[in-house]
Amino acid sequence: MSSASLHPDAHAEATDGPDAWTRDRATVQAREDLKITVAVLVCYLVDAALLAALVWAGIGAWTTPLAFVAVGLLVSSVSGLHHLRNRQARLDTPGMVLWQVSAALLLSVAVAWTDPPMLLPMLLTQGVMLSTGAIRLQPRQVLLLCLATAGATTAVLALGAAPLLPSLTTPGQQALIGLWLLWTLAKGASTNLTGMALRLELDASHRRLAEALARVQELAERDELTGLYNRRRVLEVLAQERTRCLRGGPGFSVAMLDIDHFKRINDGFGHPVGDAVLRDVAAVMRQVLRNHDVVGRLGGEEFLLVLPGATDLDAARQAAERVRRSIEQHDWQQVAPELQVTASMGLAVSRPGEPAETLLDRSDRGLYRAKREGRNRVASAADG
Ligand code: GH3
Ligand code: MG
Ligand code: MG
Repeated sequence: MSSASLHPDAHAEATDGPDAWTRDRATVQAREDLKITVAVLVCYLVDAALLAALVWAGIGAWTTPLAFVAVGLLVSSVSGLHHLRNRQARLDTPGMVLWQVSAALLLSVAVAWTDPPMLLPMLLTQGVMLSTGAIRLQPRQVLLLCLATAGATTAVLALGAAPLLPSLTTPGQQALIGLWLLWTLAKGASTNLTGMALRLELDASHRRLAEALARVQELAERDELTGLYNRRRVLEVLAQERTRCLRGGPGFSVAMLDIDHFKRINDGFGHPVGDAVLRDVAAVMRQVLRNHDVVGRLGGEEFLLVLPGATDLDAARQAAERVRRSIEQHDWQQVAPELQVTASMGLAVSRPGEPAETLLDRSDRGLYRAKREGRNRVASAADG
């Protein structure tokens, strides 16, 4: 049994983690939706209060503030019920926004028709409703709402022949119209700010997602122990190099590297020292290879080096010798006293059109030869 499964928290984390996250997310959503429902109701009630003050100051009829209270109760209870019946559905989805904006616009046209002195406040409301609603609606829906509202309001103006501006004779009336203007614009601005905050949050979560994806990709192509490319990735690089070559690019070479008597190291010094040797060999290779050379772990104590631009055996041998020497001369006493590590390498220069398997097979035969001839050396199948 692994140590991870013995840890009491490990199991709880593995099973409860995602569920707890979903629960948290659902709670946050429910709270947000409740806030939206309450905000809609509060807005209608404040609208109604300001309109009532206008009526009290001599502009419009009492039916208008009463209609705002009624529609406010209707819209917020429909939102609330929708939320209660279907907890998954968000209230700020385009469908819900379309219903809320349509209700507000219909109310404004109805008031403009039935209560002409309220025309100016209603026109203001229409402009702000449409511009804020557009944040969450589809362009087609916004266009339709604009056409319907403009058409209906123009018809009201033409048929009713009401003056566009009520005669604001008292300072109270002027102040109340100013207050309505301020409140309506503030409502629009705050909705836009909320939309902006949502967009920023969305941008941030996109960034986090992209980072996580990059991390997953990185993990998928790296060998855990050495940090080098894993077998799949290094063979992918080899295939890419081969394609580049086929398209007329420069030739390349490969070198297969195998640590000498690695089993003895494991047996004599222990597995952890064996792992440390693998890590150090990887680090040494990264240090002495050129930037465009690629190295990956094929498995066990075997590595593959892809050397772009090494078009002949001499160039490949130079790079391989540098690696072999650096491994031999590395300060292995730091890893374990008395430890000495060497590696053998098999070289193969790519031939035009040669399949990757054949190229790898030739470098493998070179490696076999280097082992046979005494290890700690570089050889190619074509030698001698
Ligand atoms: P040669 O010089 O002929 O290559 O001999 P060798 O002992 O290096 O070759 P062999 O293939 O017999 O042994 C390879 C050993 O590598 C056997 C295996 O237990 C060990 N090994 C494979 N993967 C790992 C690893 O991730 N960590 C450690 N410590 N050892 C590993
Ligand atoms: Mg081996
Ligand atoms: Mg070996």
